[in-house]
Amino acid sequence: MHSGEPCEARFAPSSQSAGVRFVRGGTSFLPDVHHLEAAARRATALEAGGQRLGTVEHFLSALCAMGMPAFDIEVDGPELPILDGSAAPVHAALCRAGLRPRFAFVELDQEIEVRAQGGEARLRPVSSEQIPRLTAQVELGPCAPRMESVCFRPTVDDFGLDIAPARTFCHLSEVESLRAQGLIRGGSLDCALVLSEDGPIPGQSYRLPQEPTRHKILDAIGDLSLLGGLPWAEIELFRPGHALIHEVVRQAAPHVRKTQRFADALKTDLG
Ligand SMILES: [Zn+2]
Repeated sequence: MHSGEPCEARFAPSSQSAGVRFVRGGTSFLPDVHHLEAAARRATALEAGGQRLGTVEHFLSALCAMGMPAFDIEVDGPELPILDGSAAPVHAALCRAGLRPRFAFVELDQEIEVRAQGGEARLRPVSSEQIPRLTAQVELGPCAPRMESVCFRPTVDDFGLDIAPARTFCHLSEVESLRAQGLIRGGSLDCALVLSEDGPIPGQSYRLPQEPTRHKILDAIGDLSLLGGLPWAEIELFRPGHALIHEVVRQAAPHVRKTQRFADALKTDLG
């Protein structure tokens, strides 16, 4: 997406690691707060041994919805392939491989509130009888702002239908400045939604209602999975971006209880 380099990712079942691990060359990149790159540039990157691996968030989102299974994901480029801009191809591949949708969750021992980059996040832990929710409020259109809100319930709603297909997006007015910053070199209409004031530009259309806001939830799930899973909490995000969620991850990491639990999608029973 950003480097414009061709890249391929191969999932290999891992007997060594307890969960997801990205491998490039001889370097392992663990998806956790210690490997999170400090400066977010419209994406999430991991750092290890002086190297960087970019655009991990869509893969992580699909993996979190599958319980963060033990995989070594071997990557031959500087970032993960953007595919169609969504998490649907990864989700579909994991389903075809026989994995069962079930979110990985972690518990927080306190409430977290973060403000950064014009956005706000509040994570309020809920009891095991309550249903965790992730609500995102997003402002669309830099010139004609309008708020959109989507609530996703990871134990009840269907990640594969409601969130995974939502593509990354940018505003038409941003395209030139992003290119000038050396970003989106691999970007095209095949892997991103481009929005004008009135919605998708001619030739494009939404795959599902409120697709940009759903993509923000997709990104947030991917970034929050750096905690080991999605926090079992009422999560409210206002104008979320990667920088905001990365700050949430940094502040929440010391408050994560190590117990990881899973919940089957479309059910509320906890395993
Ligand atoms: Zn994204």
